[in-house]
Amino acid sequence: MAHLLSESERSFIERLQYGAKGFEFKNWANTFHCKPLYYLAPETECEIIELVRIAARHGLTLKPVGSGHSPSDLACTDSIMLNMDKMNRILAHDPYACTLTVEAGVRLHQLNSMLEQRGMALSSLGSISDQSIAGAIATATHGTGMAFGDMSSTITHLVIIDGTGRRRECSATVDPDLFDAARCSIGALGIITQVTIQCEPAFKLHAVQTPDTLDHVLNTLSDVAFSAEHVRFWWFPYTDNVAVWRANRTTQPIQPRAKSLWRDRLVGYHYYQLRLLKSRLVPDDLPSINQEQFSSRFNRRIESIDDSYKVFNFDCLFSHHVNEWAVPWEKAADVIRQLRAWINAEERKPDGVRVHFPVQARFVKESNVWLSPTYGQTVCYIAVIMYRPYHRAVPYKKYWRVYEDIMRTQGGRPHWAKAHKMYYYDLKKAYPKFDDFIKLRGECDPNGIFVNDYIRRHILPPNEPILTANSGSGSRSLTCEKPRL
Ligand SMILES: Cc1cc2nc3c(=O)[nH]c(=O)nc-3n(C[C@H](O)[C@H](O)[C@H](O)COP(=O)(O)OP(=O)(O)OC[C@H]3O[C@@H](n4cnc5c(N)ncnc54)[C@H](O)[C@@H]3O)c2cc1C
Repeated sequence: MAHLLSESERSFIERLQYGAKGFEFKNWANTFHCKPLYYLAPETECEIIELVRIAARHGLTLKPVGSGHSPSDLACTDSIMLNMDKMNRILAHDPYACTLTVEAGVRLHQLNSMLEQRGMALSSLGSISDQSIAGAIATATHGTGMAFGDMSSTITHLVIIDGTGRRRECSATVDPDLFDAARCSIGALGIITQVTIQCEPAFKLHAVQTPDTLDHVLNTLSDVAFSAEHVRFWWFPYTDNVAVWRANRTTQPIQPRAKSLWRDRLVGYHYYQLRLLKSRLVPDDLPSINQEQFSSRFNRRIESIDDSYKVFNFDCLFSHHVNEWAVPWEKAADVIRQLRAWINAEERKPDGVRVHFPVQARFVKESNVWLSPTYGQTVCYIAVIMYRPYHRAVPYKKYWRVYEDIMRTQGGRPHWAKAHKMYYYDLKKAYPKFDDFIKLRGECDPNGIFVNDYIRRHILPPNEPILTANSGSGSRSLTCEKPRL
């Protein structure tokens, strides 16, 4: 395609080239790869608009990437990939409304310190702060708390460049349909260039993690979910053990979490990874590994008081496969009981599936963001995980299949960032506004400039013609690790 570019288009693209040519994109977990034709880093909205026009003229596609943390091919493309790291400036600060307007490539850790310097903070955060703000809202990234929405729901205004090269601003009062769709649009409507985030005055959190039993937590789930502002729990399969983490706002003095090199790094990271490596050959070890990790690291009260973002985030260890869906929160106990019954039944089979810990549960308040799993319902996100010790393959597909079947029968909606098996007709049933989103996508991106394999596979109506020269080729160089099962 490159030879069709005019001289001025070619020199414009070369000016935006990011790093060496021949770049191969790998996501954080190193489970999805692709080789974009061009890897560019725009610095301004004008450059993005020009790139959209070039892409439209030459039948190319564009995919912005944040920090590449999505555990799927969501950000992959074999055409033009846009690294958004240079678009990380602060554009406005309104101390009275407690909002900050930033460019869309800002990473959450940069945002945390920008906010701290201005006496503000995000109301809720997930496990890490590596993501870009646009990447985080693209997939409705969430933390936990019955009264706290996902990150998409904290956006009060945004600017998006659509597939016709038009710069569109939206908010609850300006182009409200676009606003409700674009706040979680998995990159399908256009390139978000700036967002205004509703924050709150900076606060400290007092976090307390305590051991409990699964039956007790599930039998009293409503009490547990409302027992603090932010609550999550981890269940250790093959045991009745649970670690419940609760955090509330406090004005008490800082008392950081005491870190133990022995417990946190040696036992909790290195020894754990080695044990998981061995369990690839001896899967029957997994129940005792889960028990051992609980006993050595989680079977005690752990307490800390610190700046909010330091308390929300935690160490996600090493590469893993993860699947996470949201169900109406009242159904969470039932889902986990069904999952436990299956895991226990498999354990009784000599060649049955053996799984890693944790099964994680988090609560998120309902929103009116069309494609957020929280649309119209307060949810419990339930995540399952299989680590990849030293990047080695682990069998996870049967576990995922059973987990997804359970989530599906309970009205579950998958986390957009994670590999899942929900397609157009399933999503149409799961999301009341799905058809409106599809219609808006057609208007925003008539030439399919933002379509990649993920969007084509999951979002588009089957057989919908996409009018680009790349139609049907999507991402030829996409590769996905194929584990030995
Ligand atoms: C270790 C780890 C921990 C995690 N913890 C959590 C958690 O606690 N809670 C949770 O909900 N999720 C969590 N996630 C998932 C993560 O938040 C999402 O995958 C998020 O989308 C990643 O952001 P990113 O910047 O890396 O986006 P990428 O993965 O780079 O991209 C995601 C999508 O956003 C699009 N995009 C990026 N920039 C733009 C833009 N400017 N305009 C339009 N679209 C854009 C991309 O095209 C792509 O479609 C975790 C992931 C990992 C690996």
